[in-house]
Amino acid sequence: MVVGSGPNGLAAAIELARNGLSVAVLEAAGEPGGALRSAETTLPGFVHDVGSAIHPLAVASPFFRSLSLERYGVRWVHPPAPLAHPLEGEEVVLLERSLEETAAGLGEDGEAYLRLMSPLAADLERLANLAAGRPALPRHPAALGASALRALRPAVSLARAAFRGGRARALFAGNAAHSFLPLERRPSALFGLALGALGHAVGWPFPEGGAGRLARALVSCLRALGGELLTGFPVGSLEEVPPARAVLFDVTPRQLLRIAGERLPGRYRRALARYRYGPGAFKVDFALDGPIPWADGRCARAGTVHLGGALEEIAAGEREVWRGGHPERPFVLLAQHTLFDPSRAPEGRHTVWAYCHVPNGSTFDMTGRIERQIERFAPGFRERVLTRRSAGPADLERENPNLVGGDINGGVMDLGQLLTRPARRLDPYSTPVRGLYICSSSTPPGGGVHGLCGYLAARSALRLLRGSRRSAPRPPAARPR
Ligand SMILES: Cc1cc2nc3c(=O)[nH]c(=O)nc-3n(C[C@H](O)[C@H](O)[C@H](O)COP(=O)(O)OP(=O)(O)OC[C@H]3O[C@@H](n4cnc5c(N)ncnc54)[C@H](O)[C@@H]3O)c2cc1C
Repeated sequence: MVVGSGPNGLAAAIELARNGLSVAVLEAAGEPGGALRSAETTLPGFVHDVGSAIHPLAVASPFFRSLSLERYGVRWVHPPAPLAHPLEGEEVVLLERSLEETAAGLGEDGEAYLRLMSPLAADLERLANLAAGRPALPRHPAALGASALRALRPAVSLARAAFRGGRARALFAGNAAHSFLPLERRPSALFGLALGALGHAVGWPFPEGGAGRLARALVSCLRALGGELLTGFPVGSLEEVPPARAVLFDVTPRQLLRIAGERLPGRYRRALARYRYGPGAFKVDFALDGPIPWADGRCARAGTVHLGGALEEIAAGEREVWRGGHPERPFVLLAQHTLFDPSRAPEGRHTVWAYCHVPNGSTFDMTGRIERQIERFAPGFRERVLTRRSAGPADLERENPNLVGGDINGGVMDLGQLLTRPARRLDPYSTPVRGLYICSSSTPPGGGVHGLCGYLAARSALRLLRGSRRSAPRPPAARPR
């Protein structure tokens, strides 16, 4: 049994099913996908991604690749450039697929950028395999070793050491801010390096028609393997899970405590209770009557746009969020799918997906500040807005209980919790109760749509099930509903 049908729950179920087990997924919501869904949240015909919008991790994931999801209807849309980072009073910085073209736009830092990113982009496939538990010899071991050490640094210190100019520093800071960490904290540089390298190696694409298409493809794949999915099935306690040889929970530690706390030994329970959640997201979906009127028209070449200006400004904003404040000029992550995928809106109309970071559980309305930040780089944006729909941390958590306080990564991704989530154990997917597993983004390698947490949790369960076929564990469970 798998509880929860986010990308990790579905990945776990698929891996179990393709190894010959009989699998069912229980999902609380009315439809599967978790934070990988799409809906008409503003106006009829406008398809918005309710959670994840840009999917470099999905296309790089060795597990998803092994499923050939294109067979189940996924078509990846690649905008000409993965990312634009506009700056006031100068040309936009573009992260292009080509390392050289990107470097050419960074002026004096072009060479430094190539030195920093080339080894990572060249070895990205091997790094992705490493994250999936399949280590391989890198092509450039020495350069990669140096990159690994750099990744452990705070983004601000790496950006200042590596680059002299503001353009490369701003680009790096925007990518590093995906960590939800203050940019003075380790290992925020890891996110700057990884997202940049992904842009060059695989692009930052998205599924045609909405992120939900990817979830639907995963469900089709599961069903093709004989797996079942039951929606509208919230699991409140272990007793509600039908009898099974193993139960994998696509939930975060706080929920696992609520569901199975009584069965867990005190030490593990205390470790789960100490688990730290990070800042939340404040999200706005816009329906527009035309494309965003960017001051620098080249922003329209990119699917994703980072709005936050210089490194110093982005770092100050993220610092403020970490301290419990709400920046006047928040760092805004924006996706403009319909420029490249007209199927997501009525003809000539457009959608915008945008969010910024806020303190965990914040109730502050950031809609106006997000709009001002867009308007700053695209004067006239407001006049294009037909309607908008905002969702703060409480709204996000109401729709999906895994988004605790609005945290979209299933917990802080700092050095203390990156690899030892949700607790310090040799096998972080197992729990001290035999047959009970956790498979959400609160396990390594953490947040994002890649399915690797689910895949690795399933591998852990398969090891146990194969090792003890006859005395297979039966997690405590009562009658099915
Ligand atoms: C606003 C936002 C933007 C994001 N942007 C990106 C992005 O651009 N790119 C990217 O790669 N990632 C992005 N992410 C992160 C990514 O979506 C998540 O990391 C990923 O979905 C985690 O997958 P999961 O399976 O661990 O959990 P989830 O996707 O959260 O799924 C958990 C599922 O479990 C169900 N569930 C929970 N409790 C129970 C219960 N007791 N009983 C039954 N069912 C239960 C929930 O209803 C949900 O369906 C974003 C997330 C959000 C919210």
